[in-house]
Amino acid sequence: MSDVRIDDLPVRDELRGKTPYGAPQLDVPVRLNTNENPYPLPEPLVERIAERVREAARHLNRYPDRDAVELRTRLARYLTDTSGHPVGTAEVWAANGSNEVIQQLLQTFGGPGRTAIGFEPSYSMHALIARGTGTGWISGPRGEDFSIDLEAAEKAIAENRPDVVFITTPNNPTGNAVPPETVLALYEAAQAAKPSIVVVDEAYVEFSHGDSLLPLLRGRPHLVVSRTMSKAFGAAGLRLGYLAADPAVVDAVQLVRLPYHLSAVTQATALAALEHTDTLLGYVEQLKAERDRLVGELRAIGYEVTASDANFVQFGRFDDAHEAWRRILDRGVLVRDNGVPGWLRVTAGTPEENDAFLDAVRELKKEHS
Ligand code: PMP
Repeated sequence: MSDVRIDDLPVRDELRGKTPYGAPQLDVPVRLNTNENPYPLPEPLVERIAERVREAARHLNRYPDRDAVELRTRLARYLTDTSGHPVGTAEVWAANGSNEVIQQLLQTFGGPGRTAIGFEPSYSMHALIARGTGTGWISGPRGEDFSIDLEAAEKAIAENRPDVVFITTPNNPTGNAVPPETVLALYEAAQAAKPSIVVVDEAYVEFSHGDSLLPLLRGRPHLVVSRTMSKAFGAAGLRLGYLAADPAVVDAVQLVRLPYHLSAVTQATALAALEHTDTLLGYVEQLKAERDRLVGELRAIGYEVTASDANFVQFGRFDDAHEAWRRILDRGVLVRDNGVPGWLRVTAGTPEENDAFLDAVRELKKEHS
């Protein structure tokens, strides 16, 4: 073993003393902490993936399709079919998870001397990817109820004139959606301050009571909608994220993407999953019902709950959220402490997993009353 520590290395100043992103990956019976889909892929899809990957394996001596045209065409069709807004291949870009999509966007539109803003608490990777790409990070405000206070947000944009604006809807970790009027107003505010890119992170939109904001893309060349197959498609292990935007944004991102970044195996697997969209979206309906059940039961037990449009629920309040997190873990259920004071987050699992979680928090409540 070496006793050299990170800070002994000549790392960039902004990385000194920092810790990497890391939700605990603990081996406990019920894991409801990373907003994964609890349902394994259905067996016919597993077979189809094996078939498609076998075919791809015959050509692994060659680089994959650098522009992933077949996959982008199929993703464009999925977006069109589910939103009613026509999306073409040239308006879609794909990468290894939406984290990589966001990284490519910040490499293209952020970077040294530039800034990005998000309205926090929100998805912590936006700030971390900003740091990794040398983009200055501005923590924008949210209201007491975790909604975006339009006036305060507009003021933060006008004062800071960021180059990139992140709007996560439904938001993680709070679960609530941002109304389309607020997104539109923030887009206008951002364009008035400085021509900037507005990224709407819709990782959880398939679980929403409302609609995707894809139709807002029309006539707004600085708007980007980012999506993922990690949640609704139940394929977090696949690592496939994508965006929809004006074709010029897709062209711009090509300036920073690594050549052949999406392996032939990834492309083949994602294409197989897209053939089974209907079955996978059926699971989404079950998860939405379970999410609503969690909200109702948590409230009945006496917890406060933030309205959720995602596959997870934020609940509280706790005097010491981390202590509550530990006590729930003692009962074999792993939830997430996102560092929002007083609140924890639970991902909707299978009905049995959710029952185990509800039993645990019911007992916790009894201990404290
Ligand atoms: N955006 C949000 C809001 C998320 O919560 C997540 C995953 N937790 C991601 C993006 C990244 O997802 P992936 O890289 O798996 O596509």
